[in-house]
Amino acid sequence: MSEQDGRGPIVIIGGGHAGVQVCAGLAALGQGARVHLVCEEAPLPYQRPPLSKSFLKNPQEPLQEHRGEGWFADAGITLHRADPAVAIDRARQRLRLRSGRELPYHRLVLATGTRARQLPHLHADLDNVAVLRTAGDAQRLRALLEAAAQVTVLGGGFIGLEVAATARALGKAVTLLESAPRLLMRSVSAELAQHVLDTHRAAGIDVRLGAAVGHFEVEGTRLAALGVDGVRHPVDLLVLGIGAVPQHQLADDAGLECENGIVVDEHLRTSDAAILAVGDCTSFPEPITGRRLRLESVQNANDQARAAVATLTGAPQPYRALPWFWSEQGSLRLQMAGLMPAEGVRQHRPGASDTSFSILHYAGKRLSCVESVNAPLDHMAARKLLDAGISPDPALACDPTRTLKSFL
Ligand SMILES: Cc1cc2nc3c(=O)[nH]c(=O)nc-3n(C[C@H](O)[C@H](O)[C@H](O)COP(=O)(O)OP(=O)(O)OC[C@H]3O[C@@H](n4cnc5c(N)ncnc54)[C@H](O)[C@@H]3O)c2cc1C
Repeated sequence: MSEQDGRGPIVIIGGGHAGVQVCAGLAALGQGARVHLVCEEAPLPYQRPPLSKSFLKNPQEPLQEHRGEGWFADAGITLHRADPAVAIDRARQRLRLRSGRELPYHRLVLATGTRARQLPHLHADLDNVAVLRTAGDAQRLRALLEAAAQVTVLGGGFIGLEVAATARALGKAVTLLESAPRLLMRSVSAELAQHVLDTHRAAGIDVRLGAAVGHFEVEGTRLAALGVDGVRHPVDLLVLGIGAVPQHQLADDAGLECENGIVVDEHLRTSDAAILAVGDCTSFPEPITGRRLRLESVQNANDQARAAVATLTGAPQPYRALPWFWSEQGSLRLQMAGLMPAEGVRQHRPGASDTSFSILHYAGKRLSCVESVNAPLDHMAARKLLDAGISPDPALACDPTRTLKSFL
């Protein structure tokens, strides 16, 4: 399929998980020659999850590329690397890149992801303060970790906890500061959060909940200390794990509707029918309740990209995928699927070992979320139950694997 076939070029902004998955979907349909992938970063598109896990731990580990350069070339996809998009001209359907180059589009896909949140009162470029979002951030943090004896992590979300666990495994003295009364406040149940807390404390991480952080003592180009609960806390290396902000400046400037992300409908269309958006940067309608959600996960990026390809190729399918996520933190492999009900019954199911279990959460009688710790088989079974809309009776002791088998 060429750009002259009447359907015209598809330009994708952002070479992350979602952007590359849109490329893969179009290439599989033989439509790669229509595609331009515009990347802000210089490396070939790479996987982000290892950046807070194996990549940080092992100085020899290379970036894990999504696809080799030859794959893009064979598919006919034109890559624009280290040349970010700077403006969308919706009237003329053209995209301007930083180099000055203009790309005409028939359809435009925004897959711009998020950027790491910074602390408003702290200079972003201090020598011993780090964030973790890009390959460049991870390479810098890897070098800083090697030199540091003590690591302070601000934020008890997934990335903060993964970095803290990795730093501890590297033999560092680690303090983790969380302002909320518990870890992973926005993403897991209180029971799972307590288990995560106990495990990290047992591994020697000094986790402080409800920590009030203020007063930054800067000496030259370094952060010397933080005030924590009114007490001076010296800093060797500070890692900020305080969340991510959706990148929707381009969309905003172009007059597209944005609210905590680029607003899309169930087919991933923005308020301009010629422009779609996918992945971490989108605010989309959750299929059961219709409330707007913005998720940051590989699953959401990949599945939204598949739905966007269906829309782009004239066979739209509403986005209805089951959300799931995983995290690796020292000895913990956490897996979550579904959406946590505001209230309801929960069931604890022990796993095969002392350190493994699952928690099944019900909204009324409907199974709506499963959290697992070191229990991948149970988790996969429960995920299939969730996917199929099957709810084992919450009144009975539930074994997801056995329940699944009885339905197969
Ligand atoms: C350290 C780390 C660990 C993670 N671990 C997990 C995990 O264990 N499990 C999990 O499910 N998820 C994990 N995630 C989240 C997951 O990586 C994201 O949900 C996923 O990358 C989202 O894909 P995306 O394509 O929407 O955004 P991204 O992967 O962020 O890609 C967006 C891309 O757009 C580019 N871009 C932005 N603006 C422009 C522009 N103007 N022009 C051109 N390019 C632009 C950016 O440079 C970036 O490359 C992790 C994330 C990080 C940072």
